[in-house]
Amino acid sequence: MSDSPQVSAVIPVYNEIECLPELRERMLAVLRSLGRTFELVLVDDGSDDGSGELLDRYRAEVPEIRVVRLDRNWGLSSALDAGFRAARGTITVTLDADLQNDPNDIPRLVEMLDEYDMVCGWRKDRDDPWLKRLSSKVANAIRNRLTGERVHDTCCPLKVFKTEVMRDVRLYDGLHRFIPTLVKWEGFRVTETPVRHFPRMSGRSKYGLRNRVFKGLADLRTIRWMRKNRPAYRATLLD
Ligand code: UDP
Ligand code: MG
Repeated sequence: MSDSPQVSAVIPVYNEIECLPELRERMLAVLRSLGRTFELVLVDDGSDDGSGELLDRYRAEVPEIRVVRLDRNWGLSSALDAGFRAARGTITVTLDADLQNDPNDIPRLVEMLDEYDMVCGWRKDRDDPWLKRLSSKVANAIRNRLTGERVHDTCCPLKVFKTEVMRDVRLYDGLHRFIPTLVKWEGFRVTETPVRHFPRMSGRSKYGLRNRVFKGLADLRTIRWMRKNRPAYRATLLD
């Protein structure tokens, strides 16, 4: 374990062949600028557009690149779950493959870990189609109301955290939308900070109104159940 890197960047990839070259360059540049040892963990979530083969090439070319391959397309929650479990660094950074977030925001979020256990991006000036912006705003408001939360942007893909905070959190399908809440439940300090946001560089969005908003809202029932039934006890071992 002594050669574990200090920072792991985890990126879910499903049919993102057009985005991968720029993603690789920009991520490696930012990770190198951190002045810490790092690994770039790319999770191939059952891609069938050639992304998988390209990732194999990257892995052979760059020693810091690791690839986790899922046996089929499982969806974002599983891709992140697998990636977080593979991460060996003490700090994990995550964002999407499509570069809608700016990797240059990463160093600032990493510095904030001096005070917090998880720092989540908040796409304050979000550059997405209006329907997506609106539906996300409504969904966040409903989520906050029903879960007693106050998170502006629970789904922002850019997050930086101490790797241990996700150790006891399994991302059942859909739960990637509730990561800040799940981590708070584990007793960790979570905060949000505004980050830059851009339109998708190329390729297509995998999530639309149906599989995003409706599933997200349906999953709220699960979150409410979990909130009510979670083991929130404090135990003292007497000796
Ligand atoms: N993704 C994935 N598995 C999927 C769908 C998406 O790993 O089944 C990845 C995708 O490659 C991207 C991220 O999850 O890195 C977010 O997907 P997308 O950008 O399509 O979602 P949006 O930002 O439009 O909600
Ligand atoms: Mg996207």
